[in-house]
Amino acid sequence: EKNIPCTSARDLTPSYDWFQTDGLITIVIYTKQKDMNAELVIVDCQDKRLRGEIILADHSYLIELDLDHAVREGFDVNIAEKVGKVEIILKKKDNVHWKVLGRPLESHNTFIKRTDRGLFYRKCKLVSKTEVTHDTKLFCLMLPKSTHLQVPTGQHVYLKQVIAGTEVVKPYTPILPSLMLDFKQPSCHDGAHIYLMIKIYSRGLFTQALDRLQIGDYISVSSPEGNFKKSQVQTSEDLFLLAAGTGFTPMVKLLNFALTEVSSLRTLKLIFFNKKEDDILWRNQLEELALKDKRFEVQFVLSEPTKDWGGKQGKISLSLLSECVKRSRKDSKVLICICGPTPFTEQGVECLRDLGYSQEEMHAFTA
Ligand code: FAD
Ligand code: NAD
Repeated sequence: EKNIPCTSARDLTPSYDWFQTDGLITIVIYTKQKDMNAELVIVDCQDKRLRGEIILADHSYLIELDLDHAVREGFDVNIAEKVGKVEIILKKKDNVHWKVLGRPLESHNTFIKRTDRGLFYRKCKLVSKTEVTHDTKLFCLMLPKSTHLQVPTGQHVYLKQVIAGTEVVKPYTPILPSLMLDFKQPSCHDGAHIYLMIKIYSRGLFTQALDRLQIGDYISVSSPEGNFKKSQVQTSEDLFLLAAGTGFTPMVKLLNFALTEVSSLRTLKLIFFNKKEDDILWRNQLEELALKDKRFEVQFVLSEPTKDWGGKQGKISLSLLSECVKRSRKDSKVLICICGPTPFTEQGVECLRDLGYSQEEMHAFTA
């Protein structure tokens, strides 16, 4: 009897190929996945070392090589989104024929779980530092010219510094330079800059060292990480954002994304918990946005208000949430996002559960 080969499950391991012209080297990665986008492609080229990572759900495909010859600074990345093809186009420094693409490094051509990959850092330049409140600053970092990296909505990066001889790593959530962007202007999302809003603690190990950085200094920044999925918001009708202190940071891109790209969105409410009035981050911008966009409402809640505070006071509680978090219609599709100090987030989630919201209707940003 003849052996009929059965159609095996399609091999979903990505692969790559390369070719050259006089001046260019083109590396083509076949991801074998539809819906590729620029956020899933992270490329770094330092000297002759090339690292290209493709994020495919919870897996990561990597090419990592010591290139055969030198290339010029900067490269292009082209993505054919529907067919899942990614091209990295390098510019040769010298007009020579390359016999090979390069010498493979340790993790070259591997396809493994994302969590097993380990973080990769590149040095970014501090280009500006501006005051947001009495203790919080907006840091603008510039990625190297030979890095292609975009931080997705809801994800964070790690910063790394050597403090007193020890490497210290802390997570921070990139934001936008402002809430009042002309959303159609792509220059704000140019991909070359990363904006971080960071509270400087008087006894904080990492933030004190960060505050000592001068304009022009360099700091190591990791690739993005985090388990928030944009698709959670994509079909929302009522979106509630519960933020405490710098827990506001993941809400910035989320706000922008919801108001510009979620067509189903009817109402968006930010409930922002702070100690005092002068701790409120971007208060003017939030109030202006609320005037500009009728779908958006902001409510400030202070835990240590002065006597003249006319707004809400206290901490997160069942009674406060039952008052502030309400569906706009009986059958509204709701998403509630929550971020702040761990006890705040835990209490918030518990209260929401008591109010009858399901796990699928909540997202907690945690470490
Ligand atoms: P630490 O040295 O860790 O201490 C911070 C302050 O708290 C100090 O004043 C210290 O005295 C006090 N403290 C420390 N431990 C305790 C304790 N157990 N009880 C009471 N007080 C204590 N922060 C931002 O500003 N912006 C962001 O965008 C941001 N994003 C984050 C994203 C994620 C996913 C996570 C998990 C955290 C994020 N953080 C963010 C917090 C950030 O990672 C650091 O924790 C923060 O900057 C403090 O670091 P530090 O080393 O300066 O302070
Ligand atoms: P803060 O000390 O200024 O407090 C702000 C508000 O949080 C308070 O007014 C109060 O309403 C609430 N709060 C504080 N402690 C509470 C407690 N024990 N129980 C209930 N409510 C409480 O806040 P901060 O210094 O700006 O700290 C912000 C926190 O958010 C940090 O712990 C930071 O790590 C965290 N954060 C997490 C992420 C993330 O996980 N993705 C992102 C950004 C910030």
